[in-house]
Formats: sequence, C-alpha cells, structure tokens
Amino acid sequence: MHDKISTVAVVKCGSYDYNMVKNSVARGIELAVGIDNLIIKGQKVLLKPNLLVGDPPEKCVNTHPSVFRAAAEILISAGAVLSYGDSPAVGGTESASRKAGLFQAVQDLKIAEADFKTPVEVYFEKGVQNKKFTIAKGVLDTDIIISLPKLKTHAFEKFTGCVKNQFGCVPGVRKGEYHIKLPDAEDFARMLVDLNLLVNPALYIMDGIWAMEGNGPRGGIPRKMNVILVSRDPIALDATVCRMIGLDPGLVPTIRYGSEAGMGTFLEEEIKLAGDKIEDFICPEFDIDRSPLKPFRKSGFINFARNRLVPRPSIIEKKCVSCGLCISICPTAPKSVNWRGKENENPPVHDYKKCIRCYCCQEICPEGAIELKKPLIRKILSISKGLRMV
Ligand code: SF4
Ligand code: SF4
Repeated sequence: MHDKISTVAVVKCGSYDYNMVKNSVARGIELAVGIDNLIIKGQKVLLKPNLLVGDPPEKCVNTHPSVFRAAAEILISAGAVLSYGDSPAVGGTESASRKAGLFQAVQDLKIAEADFKTPVEVYFEKGVQNKKFTIAKGVLDTDIIISLPKLKTHAFEKFTGCVKNQFGCVPGVRKGEYHIKLPDAEDFARMLVDLNLLVNPALYIMDGIWAMEGNGPRGGIPRKMNVILVSRDPIALDATVCRMIGLDPGLVPTIRYGSEAGMGTFLEEEIKLAGDKIEDFICPEFDIDRSPLKPFRKSGFINFARNRLVPRPSIIEKKCVSCGLCISICPTAPKSVNWRGKENENPPVHDYKKCIRCYCCQEICPEGAIELKKPLIRKILSISKGLRMV
C-alpha cells in the first residue's frame, strides 16, 4: 500500500525559450525533491527521453530539446555523470536524436550514448504480469534513471505518461514480442507497471509545454499546455495530468495497476501539488478518448466480440504516402497490414481477423494516415449510454 503523500511540482512554462525552460525545470526539481536529495556527486545517471522516432520538435512527438538540455545541464552541475538513450521505433538513438534536435545537447555536454542495442534477460521476482524482461544493457549500467516523458495521447493506453515512457528500455524489435504476448491493453499495462518497478526511475520530468492530442502518439495535433511537471511518483504525476485534461485516472490502466502495485497514488488527498495553480492548466477540451477500454482476449466469445467492440486501425488513403512503415512494424506473422499489390504503389490494407489491435502501425505512421475507428455497434452503445464519441 502507498501510505504517504506524493509531491507533484506543477510549473508554468510558456515557451521553449531555453532560459525559461531551464528555470522551470530547476524550479520543478527543487519543489519536487531538491537536487541535493537527488544526485550524489559522481553518480551515473541515465536520461530517458521520449524519443519515439526522429521527428522534428515542432511535431511534438518527442521530448523537446530544450527540456532535455535543461535537465542535462542541471544534473551535470550537480555532479552527475550522464548517459542517454531510448529505443526508437525507427533507427537508433543517435539518428533519432539528431532528427529530433536532441543531439546538439548530447555533443555540447558530452553526454555518452547508453547501449540500447544489447539485450539482457532480467528476472524480476516481484513482477505480477511479467517476471522476465529483456532490457537494454545501458539501462542496467547506470546508477539511476531520470525519465523525461512527453504529454501525449496514446491509442493503446490512453495517454503516454510517466509509466509508458519506460517501454523504450526494451530494445528494438523486442517491443513487438511484448505486444504479441499481451494483446490486451490491461495486461500490457500490468507489464508496463512491472517494467517500471524494475527499472525504477528516480525522477520524472514531463514536457507538457506543447502536448499532443488526438491521433497520438505520432500523428496527433500539438496542443499548448504551458506546463512542466516533476515528481518522484509516476502515478501521482500521470493522475495530475489526467485532472488537467479532464480524463478519469481510473480509465488509464497504467495508473490503476501502478497504484495497486504500490508504485504511487492517484488519490487527490494523497497528492500534494507544489508550484503554480493547477487551475491555470485545466483543459477539458483536450482531445482524448474518454471511453473505457474494451477487453481483448485471444479466445472464445471475447475474441469474436473483439471485432465488434475494439477500435480498429484504418488507413486514410488520401494521407497515405505508401511508405510501408506500418507493415514493417506490425508484429504479427503473417502481417496484419500488408500491400494489396506491388510494394510502395498503393496504400496497404488491414486484415482485421489477424490484427491484435496493438496499434503499432497507427503509432508509427509518419503522415497521421492511420486513425482508430470504433465499430458501429460500439458507437450505438456509446450513444445510448450518453458517452462522448471521438
Ligand atoms: S505508415 Fe502511414 S503513410 Fe506509410 S504506408 Fe502505412 S499508412 Fe501509409
Ligand atoms: S495491423 Fe496494426 S494494430 Fe494490427 S497487429 Fe499490426 S501493427 Fe498491430
């Protein structure tokens, strides 16, 4: 049981102007924990940004370079020995960070690239969903991790917050194996909670200055939220974001299971907000799916019901440039999305009988050309219950 008060620093930051960001991140760290309580001189610290893919900062897909640089400079000044890394959906850490604008800070501040290519099998006794993980070696070679998530929507787990950010600690194609084994979003969330407990970041600094709403985590629309959030408690931080965007934290499975696992709290009475007033960041119009997740099981009636209840990925042909990235990332064998004729000539097509609804194709599409469509029966049910449709 979580039995103490968690502090979440909420700090206003109106732009990515570097000095403004650095002041805000420094203030957030002081409010949440205090740099002297966080870093021991000479300690190895791994910075784990959200580096989904090498998209430029204005697309709001990745942790912004100003936030990355600010955190790095503050930590170096406190005596930390930094490395950084992630496992992007396409390419490696360096190529993605060059395109995402982080690499200048890496060079200027001489931050080492952590080994996110070598997989290491780890046994985790306390795991509920998973007791065995494949982790990037660089994650194990550090003393502490500081996680730098981005505030974004996510088709599979509602939104990409603190807990989800650590999925990048699983190297490369191994991520697809987890989707195959755990096609249900609830099971997947339990695995993410286990993973987070295993790698256990010491602090979370969320970039919410410009967030992403709608068709995230790559194809959505930037939304200015003007906020940086800092906490040691990933559940309290994610729940605070939920309050801002009008999403019931109980609907986010990583929050629910993280709280059950004792990783943190989402109860308002157990969260101490420090810094600026949360009322200044409330955004009820934030475009996110507020309906409950539907179960996805592999067998029996639920499997039959899946195609009638669970949203399906659907290609917007006008937007598709036939790059084939959705096909290459699809983890099923045979592929659940594939060419219908010659490669790279026409938009691919989905086979919904094979599709496990992991939404990796929607996540990776560089054109935002894959959207989630609710099956007709679910729309009718939602309307009859008066739920908000997206
Ligand atoms: S990733 Fe997107 S743009 Fe590329 S082929 Fe698939 S749907 Fe089309
Ligand atoms: S088609 Fe898309 S949602 Fe379906 S299994 Fe493949 S990547 Fe996942």
